[in-house]
Amino acid sequence: MPDIIQLLPDHVANQIAAGEVVQRPASVVKELLENAIDAKSTSITLVVKDAGKTLIQVTDNGTGMSPSDALLSFERHATSKIKIAEDLFKLNTKGFRGEALASIAAIAHVSLKTKLHDQQIGTKINVEGNKVVGQEQAVVPEGTTIAVKNLFFNIPARRNFLKSNPVETRHIIDEFHRVALAHPDIAFTMTHNDDLVFNLPLSNVRQRIVNIFGSKTNEKLVPVAETTDILKIDGFVLKPDFAKKSRGQQFFFVNDRFIKSPYLNHAVNAAFEGLIKPSLHPGYFLFLEVDPKSIDINIHPTKTEIKFDDEHALYAMVRATIKHSLGQFSIAPVLDFNRESSLDTPYDYSNKPPVTPTIDVDKDFNPFSATPKQKNIDFPYKRDKSSAHWDSLYVGLNDTQATDGSYSPETHLSFESEQVTGSLFQEQGPVSAQLTFQLQNKYIISPIKSGMMVIHQHLAHQRILYEELLKNITVHQGVSQQLLFPLELPFSIPDMEVLQKIQEQLEYTGFVFGAFGEDTLSITGIPAALLEDQACMVLEQLIQDIIDEVPDAGFSQNDLLVRSMAKSMAIKTGVALNSKEREHLVNQLFMCKEPSVSPSNQAVIITLDANDFDKKFI
Ligand code: ADP
Ligand code: MG
Repeated sequence: MPDIIQLLPDHVANQIAAGEVVQRPASVVKELLENAIDAKSTSITLVVKDAGKTLIQVTDNGTGMSPSDALLSFERHATSKIKIAEDLFKLNTKGFRGEALASIAAIAHVSLKTKLHDQQIGTKINVEGNKVVGQEQAVVPEGTTIAVKNLFFNIPARRNFLKSNPVETRHIIDEFHRVALAHPDIAFTMTHNDDLVFNLPLSNVRQRIVNIFGSKTNEKLVPVAETTDILKIDGFVLKPDFAKKSRGQQFFFVNDRFIKSPYLNHAVNAAFEGLIKPSLHPGYFLFLEVDPKSIDINIHPTKTEIKFDDEHALYAMVRATIKHSLGQFSIAPVLDFNRESSLDTPYDYSNKPPVTPTIDVDKDFNPFSATPKQKNIDFPYKRDKSSAHWDSLYVGLNDTQATDGSYSPETHLSFESEQVTGSLFQEQGPVSAQLTFQLQNKYIISPIKSGMMVIHQHLAHQRILYEELLKNITVHQGVSQQLLFPLELPFSIPDMEVLQKIQEQLEYTGFVFGAFGEDTLSITGIPAALLEDQACMVLEQLIQDIIDEVPDAGFSQNDLLVRSMAKSMAIKTGVALNSKEREHLVNQLFMCKEPSVSPSNQAVIITLDANDFDKKFI
């Protein structure tokens, strides 16, 4: 058999390498920013267009490159950062693999302008798909500008796989955060589609965090600091009260490099144990310094995973240091200038005997009545007779239920022998309240001709809200309730970006926005079915869902938005519903186009056949 092994041509090898290094526009942002830092810049500018799909450009005032280095920088495995294998064990640069520029140039149009500090003339180079298509001397500023255009122009499948602009922008901003947080001694700016998104002057870590995440962050930070022989820890954790449902602000840096470490994350969680609910995630900005010899960052091309020599010791130290800081913070509040004054005990209370608090229960509490606190989940349209054909499920039931809506043991049910078929659905009146009761504050049980129907209250309400909101957003007629006092909600700048991108759709659901401030959003109207104090949670969840959007799930942005809102607005399990509320919910459910499945495809209703019960009573 003849020899069959061949060396891959460079452009093919580069495309394969590109697949590992460049997954999305944000990967390019990361590599270019890191190169600028390695070049000892003190000021770095990032310019992005169309979520990086059209342009990503990084300008720095670093060392610059000579004309021949500029050409060489696009070769694979060309690097100025390591020379011999031992250098790998004392890395103090971000890059060292010499792959990034070659990978990026393999799948985009790249132009480079660069000039060394002591030179008059610099270099301009254009590269397309790894081919140098132009090189000339040019008068350019000191430092380097690299512009990456038309990412994945030669790999349409990859280009099509990119997510929506808000999602890709969010990933870019995440990378920007990571780099900017690790280097407060470098000034950064970022613009997106000509809007200034960040302008971060030289500062310290605390100020950098505040500049990125908004002024309210300052009072949430608890300093963390510890130095031992093998580790130096510095940084901040967020006070336990600000733990979030989503893993928003969680940053580990090792030797100024952002890393992902589920193991160390676990150590932080362990330090917060008992202070926050297990379902919440603490926020942290932690900077670890270790001997470069004791870590291996060479295990992944994107260099976000690293291996520590002595993981167990690090774990114990991270946990203990944070515990200590949190302890100091809560037992020595006098030393904390940011403490909540509302927690102080007024002096005249200190001698008062304790009084047992009384609990007032509102027996008439009705989550569906249209009082100002609780909103009705009414549809804006009237019941459509032709589609409301579920009622005859109830045909054949004896009408002697207890009047308070609970189920009386005397109730007689007559089970008809005929099978449940489509013909069951004949026009009758709406479901009678006496026909339902609630199990475990979770299920609505209703006897039907063939046995009984079990409705999941949370999923049912999700379906109702989903169809209502989807209709509003599609026909652009959301029903809005004006707020007497506008809500002022704090959001981080990147979250604000996401909200701005979906502003129009949100308005169709009934939101009315005032000003989009730097870190506060003013809301003057909310969807009719939304409670005022739910608004912040619904929007936060929505931002998170947009960021976590499953690739290729085939859902439109509207669908995602509406699913997310319906899920957070829907009445939860654990809420007791009285007969009127149950009736209302069931009626509305059966007016839906698809009452039997939730927006995320879970069953909403199951039916249990009485014949099966009969079999059990033998
Ligand atoms: P690596 O960063 O792993 O060395 P890259 O492909 O990212 O590999 O870059 C290749 C080389 O190009 C770098 O080693 C560096 O010498 C040079 N280079 C890249 N970007 C810059 C920049 N902004 N300023 C100065 N030199 C740069
Ligand atoms: Mg690099």
